[in-house]
Amino acid sequence: MFLLGHSCWSYLFSKATGRRLNVNLPAYLALLSGILPDFDIYFQPYLVHHTYTHSLIVIIPVVLVLTYFFGRLGFAFSIGILSHLLGDFLVGTIPLLYPFYSNSFDVGLNLGIPSLADTALEIGAFGLVLLYAYRNGDYKLVLKPSRESLLLAIPLFALVTLTLLFAGDRSIPLAEFAFSRRALTIITLGHILLSGILALGVLHGFRWYLGNRQSKLKDGVDASSAQPLG
Ligand SMILES: [Zn+2]
Repeated sequence: MFLLGHSCWSYLFSKATGRRLNVNLPAYLALLSGILPDFDIYFQPYLVHHTYTHSLIVIIPVVLVLTYFFGRLGFAFSIGILSHLLGDFLVGTIPLLYPFYSNSFDVGLNLGIPSLADTALEIGAFGLVLLYAYRNGDYKLVLKPSRESLLLAIPLFALVTLTLLFAGDRSIPLAEFAFSRRALTIITLGHILLSGILALGVLHGFRWYLGNRQSKLKDGVDASSAQPLG
């Protein structure tokens, strides 16, 4: 599955889990959690993509540690990480027990990537995210200045850099590949749209930052001018 689907499914699963557990997982973490297993791309060639970070041998201890230290928030975030494995399991295979039995435990439905099923899963998840974000109020992050809007820069940065690095490592001419098939064109447009929405949020985040700084400066000036002259 591509990063569009991963970030959208993790948003849906981790947000819904948080809601059930009465904690509000911030949108930037919900979107980020599903991309984390693909962070191995940052460490290539030292860490082979789609190995350790896609194995339950590594992921289960990570889930336990996150839940132990961060409680319900950590658990909701972990569900986002696990949704990555589910996504890759559906459209391809995952090395479930890597580095042990690395070949015999490659399991998955292998629906294909790119494929109609994958496109439906990615675009479907994106549509559901837009609906869910409208219902839970997260849409305000991309329309109004706030601190959390600024933090959307983290999943945005990951989405863009991982895509570029992945293509670079495999010498894939990105622009050509992205529009080479109809299924890919739709997914590419989805990535562009999601990145655009996140970028809008980051822009509002900067507005929040500048406004915040200005009001702090103003408070500082007011406080110093209110001091009695001695
Ligand atoms: Zn993956």
